[in-house]
Order: sequence, then C-alpha cells, then structure tokens
Amino acid sequence: MAKVLTKDLYASLQERVTPSGFTINQVIQTGVDNPGHPFIMTVGCVAGDEETYQVFKELLDPVIQEHHRGYKPSDTHKTDLNAENLQGGDNLDPAYVLSSRVRTGRNVRGFALPPHCSRGERRAIEGLSIKVLNSLSGDLKGKYYSLKNMTKKKQQQLINDHFLFDKPASPLLLASGMARDWPDARGIWHNDNKTFLVWVNEKDHLRVISMRKGGNMREVFNHFCIGLTEIESQFKQRCHDFMWNEHLGYVLTCPSNLGTGLRASVHVKLPNMSKQRRFEEVLKRLRLQKRRTGGVDTAAVDGVLDISNGDRLGFSEVELVQIVVDGIKLLIQMEKCLEKGQAIDNLMP
Ligand code: ADP
Ligand code: MG
Repeated sequence: MAKVLTKDLYASLQERVTPSGFTINQVIQTGVDNPGHPFIMTVGCVAGDEETYQVFKELLDPVIQEHHRGYKPSDTHKTDLNAENLQGGDNLDPAYVLSSRVRTGRNVRGFALPPHCSRGERRAIEGLSIKVLNSLSGDLKGKYYSLKNMTKKKQQQLINDHFLFDKPASPLLLASGMARDWPDARGIWHNDNKTFLVWVNEKDHLRVISMRKGGNMREVFNHFCIGLTEIESQFKQRCHDFMWNEHLGYVLTCPSNLGTGLRASVHVKLPNMSKQRRFEEVLKRLRLQKRRTGGVDTAAVDGVLDISNGDRLGFSEVELVQIVVDGIKLLIQMEKCLEKGQAIDNLMP
C-alpha cells in the first residue's frame, strides 16, 4: 500500500465510499499503523466488503499486481477443486513432515467483511454457518463451539494443538478493525476427529481447514475439496453465494488471499537445510513461503518450519498444492544430502 499510495491518489479516493460505507481511511488503517512485519511482506490494506476492490481499484489493482507477482487487472483466475488432478502427494516422508494442512477463506455475498461488518451481520453469518455446518454428514459430521461459551482452558488447548485461531493480539489485526466486539459471534466448528475444521468470523466469514498428522497431503486435499464443495452447495441451497468473480476468484478480506485463498502447509523438520545460506533463494525459486509453526505471528521452534505455497491468485488450487508437494519432496531430498555431509549444488531448483 505504501509503495502505491501517493498523496494525489489518496486525495482522489478520499470522497469515495462503498455501498456499505467503507472508506479509504479504513482500507489503509492497518498499513498506516504497522509499517512492517518481521517475517512476511504485508499488504497494508484490507477490504470491508466485496465492492471495496472495485471502488478503490486505483489503489488495489496495483497492490494486487505487486503482491501477486504481476497479476494484471485484465487477468482471469481459474478454480480447480478436483483432487484427482493432483500428481502424487500421498507419501511425503513422515520422518520429516509432521503434519499437513490445507485452508482457505470464504465470504458470503451481501454481508460486510470482518473489518467492517456490524454485530448483527456477524451474528447472522454465525447463525447461517451453524445451520449449514450442522447439515454435513458422514465423516464431516461435527459440532460448533462458540468462543463465548468456551472455557479459557479449552480455547487455549485448541490453540496449542494448532486447531484454533489465536486471539487477535497482533496490532496488524487490531488496526484493521476485525477484532471489534471480540469474541462475539466467533467460533470453531469441527468434525469428531478434528480433521475438518471451520473457523467462523475470524479474518473472513469462514476459514475452511483440512488437516492431519503425517505427510499424506493428497488425502488432506481430497478431504478439503469434498468438504468445501459440500459447504458451498449448502449455502447455495439457502440462496447464499460466496463472494467470487472471474478476475479475483474468491474475494477475501486480505488482498494477499484473493483467488484461491488457499494455503497448503506442512510442518517440516529441516534443521540443516534451514541453516543453509541459500535456503531463502531455494524457497523463492520453488515459489514457497516459510513461517514459524505456531502461526504467522509466533516465535520459532528449532528446526521445524511451516512451509507453504507463496501464491494464491492466478494458479488453481490443484496447481498450488502441486507446488507444495513437489517443493517439499525436493527440500527433504536436500535435507537428507546435508545429513550425510553431501553437496546439494546439483539439486538446486
Ligand atoms: P493460516 O493463516 O493459514 O490459518 P497461521 O500461520 O495463522 O495460518 O496458523 C494458524 C494455525 O494453524 C497455527 O496454530 C498453526 O500452527 C497451524 N498450522 C498451520 N499449518 C499447519 C500444519 N501443516 N500442521 C499443523 N498445524 C498447522
Ligand atoms: Mg492466520
């Protein structure tokens, strides 16, 4: 945002307002208050409703182009939620890959997004989500737990076990407005064995997550596609569409998540590789991103990293998971070489 927004551009956007009343000041507040993050490049702006991306396109188009590596206003996005199209991915070495996870966000058309929605809208989203989620069956059958009715102990346990979003303590989140009325109408729904989870009213209306221990990313992705497709069709049956268009794909609160909203991640042990001088360059070439394992804002655990796709937009869901599967295989191969004291030059991507 700071790279794109000039004084003149700001002046020209100042009088504009989206149909639900979101202004340029609200779009950029999080970036104004937080000029940097130690681990990732933040985008410095958020959407307050689906129309934000259109109404403030003079700012958001170049931000999107910069963040999503040249994605142009005329580009179209493709969706592929058919796990059959993934090559392999069922055998990431479990000696290295501790767990695999795929998540995305979805927002319901006609309701303002978390930085801007009213308390009533938030409660309406929660009510609708509970109805939809309670209709799931088979191994997707589960239960909703609202934050308000949850003990502090249970909440902390779910966070520690990597199932639940952390409290919005980060200034990045607070400044965006998404933490207003916390914890009202926020909660988590999950199936009995916690392999399929849905967060309600965190950074997007819904965050849909498939995860399990070990390195079977294929199974995790397959479960993700089945559950997500069923949720979308249940919303449709109740006459609610998700925010989506051909150019931006699925419309999410943070411009960095547009398109697929998909982050396929593994918690992976790479104690040698992660100390390599060329590690950052290898990740970049593989189009991968690293995070700390407790979530984007937490401290590091020695040698274990969260590695995921760096892209969201302009690639299909299948393509992004494929990038992670292939990249992780190579990183593990490199790690094994380093363990034996061998060179990795011939493995450089
Ligand atoms: P996201 O934005 O994708 O939800 P965060 O970095 O905010 O990811 O992390 C949210 C939670 O998900 C954290 O508890 C994190 O440890 C957990 N998590 C992310 N990837 C994995 C994974 N591959 N295995 C287990 N837990 C994971
Ligand atoms: Mg997160």
